[in-house]
Amino acid sequence: MNIYLDYNSTTPVDRAVLDAMLPFFADNFGNASSIHSSGQRGRSAVDAARDSVAALIGAKTAEIVFTSGGTEADNLALFGSVAASNHSRKHIITTAIEHHAVLNAAQALEKQDIDVTYVPAVASGIVDPQDVRRALRPETILISVMHANNELGTIQPIEEIGRIAAEADVYFHCDAVQSAGKLPLDVNRLGVDLLSISAHKIYGPKGVGALYVRAGTPLEPQFHGGHHERDRRPGTENVPGIVGFGKAAELASVRLTTDSARIESLRDRLEEMLLNSLASVRVNGDRSRRVPNTTNLAFTAAGGEALVIALDLQGVACSTGAACSSGAVEPSHVLLAIGLSPDEARSSLRFSLGRTTTAAEIDRAADIIPPTVERLRALSPRSESAMHAR
Ligand SMILES: *Cc1c(COP(=O)(O)O)cnc(C)c1O
Repeated sequence: MNIYLDYNSTTPVDRAVLDAMLPFFADNFGNASSIHSSGQRGRSAVDAARDSVAALIGAKTAEIVFTSGGTEADNLALFGSVAASNHSRKHIITTAIEHHAVLNAAQALEKQDIDVTYVPAVASGIVDPQDVRRALRPETILISVMHANNELGTIQPIEEIGRIAAEADVYFHCDAVQSAGKLPLDVNRLGVDLLSISAHKIYGPKGVGALYVRAGTPLEPQFHGGHHERDRRPGTENVPGIVGFGKAAELASVRLTTDSARIESLRDRLEEMLLNSLASVRVNGDRSRRVPNTTNLAFTAAGGEALVIALDLQGVACSTGAACSSGAVEPSHVLLAIGLSPDEARSSLRFSLGRTTTAAEIDRAADIIPPTVERLRALSPRSESAMHAR
């Protein structure tokens, strides 16, 4: 049995999503910008998908810009806002626990002489809105704070930060890639001007996402080409991908409440079983303010990479946090930001559950994980001292 517990990395395409997409590869292949009826079939499918994506987040249809994914949406939000701003304003605010799509975009902006404040996160993995308020300057262009953290699942106080941004007359971007489909989303209630989502995190295809751009928010396109997406993002529309995103958004709205309750009880069951069967295990981040599907556990003195591989050999797929780039064993920046030591961060694992996770899978995973952790702890040269330190 293969037990996939890595839904925060990506999700399978729902069958209904696949069925909706298939006709748009070879039968209805028209370019959505063409005037003839073949093109117009593509156009109306893209329009319908735009309605569905807008409905998922409480936006108006015209405020949705389709992109190649969450990464591009985040980059468009940051670079597009800075480029559209008056050149005397040179400061943005973000947090230490953002996804690399925001963090590395902010670092690239620093090289263009934009000042960036990285608001720290406390041990809970939740940013203090007052720290955001204190970071404001007269020249602040944008605040960018994620909704649910991809590694911890912790939920950031977006509504409060939205009020702070509005009072200060500063634009507010939110990376909601990990909260879409897990929490109800409403751009007006959240008080955001820009919001990123991605299809493949909500049972849609990879390579398609969207940036919500509140009407009136200045945004300079970052690519140059045709007049697609109301001149905000050129390029021939990815019609099958967008159609799949639309279907995935529809399903996410319909399934949100029932899925969440079921998944949350499975997550809590896994967590309880692991906490009860192993010594020296801790939950990273605030347990009460997180999305229902995620748990991040510090398994003292059992190397995370080795654990992921050992668990994979037994059919359990999980992750050490951020998907690592080029095999580098860097401790997670999020876990370091909430105060874990590099060793603790390296010995932490994220389990993220999803729509197809079953109780039988959770019970089986809870049987497999503890002896695997014990075995790796026994092999670890650090195990003695680390266990005594607690
Ligand atoms: C996955 C993810 C992204 C990137 O989205 P892609 O569509 O994979 O580019 C951005 N932010 C968060 C929080 C994510 O989890």
